[in-house]
Amino acid sequence: MRIPFIAGNWKMHKTPEESIKLAKEIDDFLKNNEDIEVDVLICPPFTSLYAVSKEIKNPKIQLGAQNMSYEEEGAFTGEISPLMLKEMNVKYVILGHSERRQLFGEKDEEINKKIKKALEHDLKPILCVGETLEERESGKEKEKVKKQITEDLKDIDKEKASSITIAYEPIWAIGTGKTASSNDANDMIKYIRSILKEIYGMDVSEKIRIQYGGSVKPHNINELMNKSDIDGALVGGASLKSKDFNEIIDF
Ligand code: PEP
Repeated sequence: MRIPFIAGNWKMHKTPEESIKLAKEIDDFLKNNEDIEVDVLICPPFTSLYAVSKEIKNPKIQLGAQNMSYEEEGAFTGEISPLMLKEMNVKYVILGHSERRQLFGEKDEEINKKIKKALEHDLKPILCVGETLEERESGKEKEKVKKQITEDLKDIDKEKASSITIAYEPIWAIGTGKTASSNDANDMIKYIRSILKEIYGMDVSEKIRIQYGGSVKPHNINELMNKSDIDGALVGGASLKSKDFNEIIDF
Protein backbone atom coordinates (compact mmCIF):
# COMPACT_ATOMS: atom_id res chain seq x y z
CA MET A 1 0.00 0.00 0.00
CA ARG A 2 1.36 3.41 -0.95
CA ILE A 3 0.89 6.08 1.74
CA PRO A 4 -0.56 9.33 0.33
CA PHE A 5 2.15 11.92 -0.16
CA ILE A 6 1.42 15.67 -0.12
CA ALA A 7 4.30 18.04 -0.84
CA GLY A 8 4.41 21.83 -0.78
CA ASN A 9 6.77 23.61 -3.17
CA TRP A 10 7.20 27.13 -1.80
CA LYS A 11 9.26 28.24 -4.81
CA MET A 12 10.90 31.68 -4.34
CA HIS A 13 8.57 32.71 -1.53
CA LYS A 14 9.09 33.23 2.21
CA THR A 15 12.05 34.64 4.13
CA PRO A 16 13.53 32.45 6.89
CA GLU A 17 11.25 34.08 9.52
CA GLU A 18 8.17 33.70 7.34
CA SER A 19 9.14 30.11 6.62
CA ILE A 20 9.39 29.25 10.30
CA LYS A 21 5.94 30.76 10.88
CA LEU A 22 4.34 28.77 8.06
CA ALA A 23 6.13 25.54 9.02
CA LYS A 24 4.96 25.95 12.64
CA GLU A 25 1.35 26.39 11.53
CA ILE A 26 1.54 23.12 9.60
CA ASP A 27 3.34 21.45 12.50
CA ASP A 28 0.63 22.55 14.96
CA PHE A 29 -2.08 21.28 12.65
CA LEU A 30 -0.46 17.87 12.39
CA LYS A 31 0.07 17.66 16.14
CA ASN A 32 -3.63 18.40 16.67
CA ASN A 33 -4.67 15.87 14.04
CA GLU A 34 -2.55 12.86 14.79
CA ASP A 35 -4.85 10.45 12.98
CA ILE A 36 -4.02 11.92 9.54
CA GLU A 37 -2.16 9.24 7.61
CA VAL A 38 -0.36 11.26 5.01
CA ASP A 39 3.33 11.84 4.39
CA VAL A 40 3.84 15.60 4.41
CA LEU A 41 6.77 17.38 2.79
CA ILE A 42 7.59 21.08 2.76
CA CYS A 43 10.12 22.52 0.33
CA PRO A 44 11.09 26.05 1.42
CA PRO A 45 13.78 28.04 -0.43
CA PHE A 46 17.40 27.07 0.31
CA THR A 47 17.82 30.13 2.55
CA SER A 48 15.12 28.87 4.92
CA LEU A 49 16.09 25.20 5.16
CA TYR A 50 18.50 25.53 8.07
CA ALA A 51 16.16 27.68 10.16
CA VAL A 52 13.19 25.39 9.53
CA SER A 53 15.23 22.25 10.24
CA LYS A 54 16.20 23.69 13.64
CA GLU A 55 12.64 24.68 14.57
CA ILE A 56 10.58 21.76 13.35
CA LYS A 57 11.30 18.40 14.92
CA ASN A 58 8.07 16.63 13.98
CA PRO A 59 8.89 13.36 12.15
CA LYS A 60 5.57 13.77 10.31
CA ILE A 61 6.93 16.75 8.37
CA GLN A 62 9.85 16.04 6.10
CA LEU A 63 12.03 18.70 4.57
CA GLY A 64 12.76 18.94 0.86
CA ALA A 65 14.88 21.15 -1.41
CA GLN A 66 13.68 22.59 -4.71
CA ASN A 67 16.81 21.79 -6.70
CA MET A 68 20.35 20.51 -6.27
CA SER A 69 23.68 20.40 -8.04
CA TYR A 70 25.06 17.13 -9.39
CA GLU A 71 28.45 18.23 -8.09
CA GLU A 72 29.49 17.73 -4.47
CA GLU A 73 31.92 20.57 -3.98
CA GLY A 74 34.03 23.04 -5.93
CA ALA A 75 34.02 26.20 -7.99
CA PHE A 76 30.34 26.22 -8.93
CA THR A 77 29.13 29.69 -7.95
CA GLY A 78 25.56 29.77 -6.77
CA GLU A 79 25.09 25.99 -6.66
CA ILE A 80 24.01 23.87 -3.68
CA SER A 81 25.43 20.41 -3.12
CA PRO A 82 23.71 17.27 -1.79
CA LEU A 83 26.13 17.25 1.15
CA MET A 84 24.95 20.70 2.20
CA LEU A 85 21.33 19.60 1.98
CA LYS A 86 21.91 16.48 4.02
CA GLU A 87 23.42 18.41 6.88
CA MET A 88 20.21 20.44 7.10
CA ASN A 89 18.14 17.31 7.52
CA VAL A 90 16.77 17.50 3.99
CA LYS A 91 15.35 14.15 2.89
CA TYR A 92 13.81 14.92 -0.51
CA VAL A 93 14.75 17.02 -3.50
CA ILE A 94 12.49 18.23 -6.33
CA LEU A 95 14.28 17.71 -9.65
CA GLY A 96 13.31 18.64 -13.18
CA HIS A 97 10.54 21.05 -12.18
CA SER A 98 9.09 22.61 -15.33
CA GLU A 99 10.22 26.06 -14.17
CA ARG A 100 13.82 24.78 -14.02
CA ARG A 101 13.41 23.20 -17.45
CA GLN A 102 11.70 26.17 -19.10
CA LEU A 103 13.27 29.19 -17.40
CA PHE A 104 16.72 27.85 -16.62
CA GLY A 105 17.22 25.51 -19.56
CA GLU A 106 17.66 22.28 -17.62
CA LYS A 107 17.93 19.30 -19.94
CA ASP A 108 17.07 15.66 -19.32
CA GLU A 109 20.74 14.68 -19.28
CA GLU A 110 21.44 17.10 -16.43
CA ILE A 111 18.33 16.00 -14.54
CA ASN A 112 19.48 12.39 -14.90
CA LYS A 113 22.86 13.29 -13.35
CA LYS A 114 21.12 15.08 -10.49
CA ILE A 115 18.85 12.11 -9.76
CA LYS A 116 21.86 9.77 -9.68
CA LYS A 117 23.75 12.10 -7.34
CA ALA A 118 20.74 12.51 -5.04
CA LEU A 119 20.30 8.75 -4.78
CA GLU A 120 24.02 8.27 -4.14
CA HIS A 121 23.53 10.46 -1.04
CA ASP A 122 20.24 8.90 0.03
CA LEU A 123 18.22 11.94 -0.90
CA LYS A 124 14.85 11.00 -2.36
CA PRO A 125 14.18 12.67 -5.71
CA ILE A 126 10.78 13.96 -6.75
CA LEU A 127 11.06 13.92 -10.51
CA CYS A 128 8.68 16.33 -12.25
CA VAL A 129 7.44 15.54 -15.74
CA GLY A 130 4.67 16.95 -17.89
CA GLU A 131 3.64 18.27 -21.26
CA THR A 132 2.99 21.76 -22.61
CA LEU A 133 -0.46 22.83 -23.78
CA GLU A 134 0.68 22.59 -27.39
CA GLU A 135 1.85 19.00 -26.87
CA ARG A 136 -1.45 18.05 -25.24
CA GLU A 137 -3.50 19.72 -27.98
CA SER A 138 -1.58 17.84 -30.64
CA GLY A 139 -2.01 14.52 -28.82
CA LYS A 140 1.68 14.20 -27.98
CA GLU A 141 1.42 14.32 -24.18
CA LYS A 142 2.22 10.65 -23.59
CA GLU A 143 5.13 10.67 -26.00
CA LYS A 144 6.61 13.68 -24.18
CA VAL A 145 6.20 12.21 -20.71
CA LYS A 146 7.65 8.85 -21.81
CA LYS A 147 10.70 10.59 -23.27
CA GLN A 148 11.27 12.55 -20.05
CA ILE A 149 10.92 9.49 -17.82
CA THR A 150 13.13 7.30 -19.98
CA GLU A 151 15.90 9.87 -20.24
CA ASP A 152 15.71 11.17 -16.67
CA LEU A 153 15.82 7.66 -15.20
CA LYS A 154 18.44 6.30 -17.60
CA ASP A 155 20.80 3.79 -15.91
CA ILE A 156 19.21 4.20 -12.50
CA ASP A 157 19.33 0.94 -10.56
CA LYS A 158 16.22 -0.97 -9.78
CA GLU A 159 17.31 -1.18 -6.10
CA LYS A 160 17.25 2.59 -5.75
CA ALA A 161 14.31 3.39 -8.00
CA SER A 162 11.60 2.73 -5.44
CA SER A 163 12.70 5.74 -3.37
CA ILE A 164 11.91 8.04 -6.29
CA THR A 165 8.59 9.90 -6.48
CA ILE A 166 7.26 11.07 -9.83
CA ALA A 167 5.19 14.25 -10.00
CA TYR A 168 3.05 14.49 -13.12
CA GLU A 169 2.63 18.21 -13.67
CA PRO A 170 1.10 19.31 -16.96
CA ILE A 171 2.84 22.63 -17.57
CA TRP A 172 -0.38 24.36 -18.64
CA ALA A 173 -1.90 23.63 -15.22
CA ILE A 174 0.91 25.06 -13.07
CA GLY A 175 0.01 28.33 -11.39
CA THR A 176 -2.76 28.96 -13.93
CA GLY A 177 -5.81 27.87 -11.97
CA LYS A 178 -6.50 25.26 -14.69
CA THR A 179 -6.40 21.72 -13.37
CA ALA A 180 -6.22 18.59 -15.48
CA SER A 181 -9.50 16.73 -15.05
CA SER A 182 -9.12 14.03 -12.43
CA ASN A 183 -9.73 11.44 -15.16
CA ASP A 184 -7.00 12.83 -17.42
CA ALA A 185 -4.57 13.06 -14.49
CA ASN A 186 -5.36 9.50 -13.43
CA ASP A 187 -5.04 8.26 -17.00
CA MET A 188 -1.56 9.80 -17.38
CA ILE A 189 -0.45 8.52 -13.99
CA LYS A 190 -1.55 5.00 -14.95
CA TYR A 191 0.47 5.37 -18.12
CA ILE A 192 3.52 6.54 -16.12
CA ARG A 193 3.21 3.46 -13.93
CA SER A 194 3.11 1.26 -17.04
CA ILE A 195 6.39 2.86 -18.23
CA LEU A 196 7.93 2.25 -14.79
CA LYS A 197 6.77 -1.36 -15.00
CA GLU A 198 8.51 -1.76 -18.37
CA ILE A 199 11.74 -0.36 -16.92
CA TYR A 200 11.78 -1.82 -13.40
CA GLY A 201 9.16 -4.59 -13.31
CA MET A 202 5.92 -4.88 -11.40
CA ASP A 203 7.31 -4.91 -7.88
CA VAL A 204 9.24 -1.65 -8.08
CA SER A 205 6.62 0.11 -10.20
CA GLU A 206 3.99 -0.60 -7.56
CA LYS A 207 6.19 1.00 -4.88
CA ILE A 208 6.92 4.28 -6.66
CA ARG A 209 4.53 7.04 -5.63
CA ILE A 210 3.15 9.24 -8.38
CA GLN A 211 1.75 12.66 -7.49
CA TYR A 212 -0.34 15.04 -9.52
CA GLY A 213 0.63 18.72 -9.56
CA GLY A 214 -1.01 21.73 -11.20
CA SER A 215 -3.36 24.12 -9.39
CA VAL A 216 -4.19 21.68 -6.62
CA LYS A 217 -6.44 23.48 -4.11
CA PRO A 218 -8.59 22.53 -1.12
CA HIS A 219 -11.66 22.29 -3.39
CA ASN A 220 -10.19 19.78 -5.89
CA ILE A 221 -7.85 17.60 -3.79
CA ASN A 222 -10.54 15.20 -2.72
CA GLU A 223 -11.64 14.35 -6.24
CA LEU A 224 -8.03 13.86 -7.34
CA MET A 225 -7.14 11.65 -4.36
CA ASN A 226 -10.23 9.52 -4.93
CA LYS A 227 -8.78 8.34 -8.23
CA SER A 228 -7.29 4.87 -8.30
CA ASP A 229 -3.71 5.77 -9.29
CA ILE A 230 -3.05 9.24 -7.86
CA ASP A 231 -0.85 8.84 -4.75
CA GLY A 232 -0.59 12.46 -3.72
CA ALA A 233 -0.02 16.02 -4.83
CA LEU A 234 2.79 18.47 -5.42
CA VAL A 235 1.27 21.79 -4.43
CA GLY A 236 2.64 25.22 -5.36
CA GLY A 237 0.48 28.31 -4.69
CA ALA A 238 -1.83 26.65 -2.18
CA SER A 239 1.12 25.50 -0.05
CA LEU A 240 1.92 29.11 0.89
CA LYS A 241 -1.05 29.52 3.21
CA SER A 242 -1.28 27.13 6.12
CA LYS A 243 -5.09 27.15 6.03
CA ASP A 244 -5.14 25.90 2.42
CA PHE A 245 -2.24 23.49 2.76
CA ASN A 246 -3.63 21.99 5.97
CA GLU A 247 -7.00 21.47 4.28
CA ILE A 248 -5.21 19.71 1.42
CA ILE A 249 -3.29 17.47 3.84
CA ASP A 250 -6.60 16.63 5.49
CA PHE A 251 -8.32 15.78 2.19
C1 PEP B 1 4.19 23.47 -8.76
O1 PEP B 1 4.88 24.44 -8.59
O2 PEP B 1 4.75 22.37 -8.83
C2 PEP B 1 2.74 23.64 -8.88
C3 PEP B 1 2.02 22.60 -9.17
O3 PEP B 1 2.23 24.91 -8.68
P1 PEP B 1 0.66 25.32 -8.50
O4 PEP B 1 0.08 24.39 -7.49
O5 PEP B 1 0.69 26.73 -8.05
O6 PEP B 1 0.01 25.13 -9.83
